[in-house]
Amino acid sequence: MPQSDHLLGAPRSAAVSRRALLGVVLLAAAPGVAQARRRSFWPGGARFAVSLTYDDGLDSQLQYAVPELDRRGYKATFFLTEENMAARLPDWEVVAQHGHEIANHTVHHPCDLRKFDARSLETRELAPMARFIRQYFGRQPRTFAYPCGFIGLGQGDNHTRFARYEHLLRHDFLAARTTAGPPNTIAAVRADPLRLAGFEPTYDADVVAPGRRYLELAEREGAWAILVFHDVVPKWRGEGDASLKTHSAVLDLVEKSGAWCAPMGAVMKRIRGRR
Ligand SMILES: [Zn+2]
Repeated sequence: MPQSDHLLGAPRSAAVSRRALLGVVLLAAAPGVAQARRRSFWPGGARFAVSLTYDDGLDSQLQYAVPELDRRGYKATFFLTEENMAARLPDWEVVAQHGHEIANHTVHHPCDLRKFDARSLETRELAPMARFIRQYFGRQPRTFAYPCGFIGLGQGDNHTRFARYEHLLRHDFLAARTTAGPPNTIAAVRADPLRLAGFEPTYDADVVAPGRRYLELAEREGAWAILVFHDVVPKWRGEGDASLKTHSAVLDLVEKSGAWCAPMGAVMKRIRGRR
């Protein structure tokens, strides 16, 4: 669930270290020769790319986020969890008809996967969700978001657990997203498309500044910014939420930046298609 969406667990400290990581990267980022070369990579001469992603299939996304995206003409990626959204299936079908990407976030959103192995995760969570999406949305989901941002599967040391999860995802997905880290450079995406970093701009507080810094860094690096939202609500209640006002302000930043804004599957296709 949103309140525990962290990379590798350890809720508060992970949030702190994520901010620290971003700070280090921000300090280290400097304009270079490569920057000019990268600028032409994205469509329409855009200097960087942004994917707007929404996790868990929450009612507030239907009520508030989708109308705002549609007003602005933005196509986003919705990582659906069947148990959260099945009751609103007809509404989600309309979302897909509007051109938004429908993607896989498992059936039940398990976070701690130590009790799973590759086979049980596939048969209980990944394959049934893919079938559900094919059945009701008419296409195979090709992007995945790790529930809670946890990237380890089964038993063993972290290296073994990460490798096991990636090996499983490689069969069905072009790209997979965590919830923490700096913007994704094209080189990093090509090296490891199943470990893309997302960024939750309003995770710690309902303010615009973290999102602004993140987008500025993406622009400097010609990178792919992947913003992560959960509930989008009139008033921020805690971790995981974005208020309507702040959500809208972050979308304003995206709009003003002139970034190429597209669903994750479309950006991934672009990166794979160009060498
Ligand atoms: Zn989630």
